[in-house]
Amino acid sequence: MRIVLLGPPGAGKGSLASLLAKRLGIAHLSTGEIFRQEIARGSLLGRRVQSYVASGRLVPDALVIQVMAQRLNAKRRTRGFVLDGFPRTHGQAVGLDQALKRQGVSIDGAIYLGCSVSLLLRRLSGRRVCPQCGTIFHIRTMRPRRPGRCDQCQARLVIRKDDQPDMIRRRLNIDGAASRPLVSYYRKRGLFSQLDGSGSVETVFGRMLKQIQRQGWLVMRSKDD
Ligand code: AMP
Repeated sequence: MRIVLLGPPGAGKGSLASLLAKRLGIAHLSTGEIFRQEIARGSLLGRRVQSYVASGRLVPDALVIQVMAQRLNAKRRTRGFVLDGFPRTHGQAVGLDQALKRQGVSIDGAIYLGCSVSLLLRRLSGRRVCPQCGTIFHIRTMRPRRPGRCDQCQARLVIRKDDQPDMIRRRLNIDGAASRPLVSYYRKRGLFSQLDGSGSVETVFGRMLKQIQRQGWLVMRSKDD
């Protein structure tokens, strides 16, 4: 199965994509996570994207497509993938389709996670992330077992720089403008479906699995497969 998760920052794409990847044994690729890791490593790519990520602006399409085409190529032998945070613009959607076509495959569908602005603001302002493994927590709704520490690797949790209040509004505006043409791109191809992103991660995940089954994108495996 090859799907993309669309939706504004805070809609839950990262948490849901991570659960979906574990549950279905598919790859999870997140451009935001890739960029944050490359910035932390101080790599050439990290230095190129740093100012964009720090200011909440979108990294230019050509660079994002190049990075993702390489990563998707490396994952071509997996059972499929879920993409989170990519594509983010119409140009990236076209670039993604072209890259997959070269591999003889295509996207099964795009799920847009809809959320009210007040809920997005609540989620983003309480979000904490692990700088080492990228696991996402929330100070009220997804607390770590040990306060301030990652459940997976015990690293000290941090607030993403772009989750500061003034940056959050800015990112929501940028995302709104970029995503409208993206939504119509998938609609026109009959690949678009919308999902109510409100509620706990478990609730939305349950809805998402049902939707995936309804769409016929996957024959579900049992938990023990
Ligand atoms: P995210 O973790 O998805 O919120 O992404 C964090 C930041 O990484 C964004 O604010 C952008 O600066 C950059 N970024 C992530 N994905 C993309 C993308 N597909 N296109 C352009 N910039 C991106």
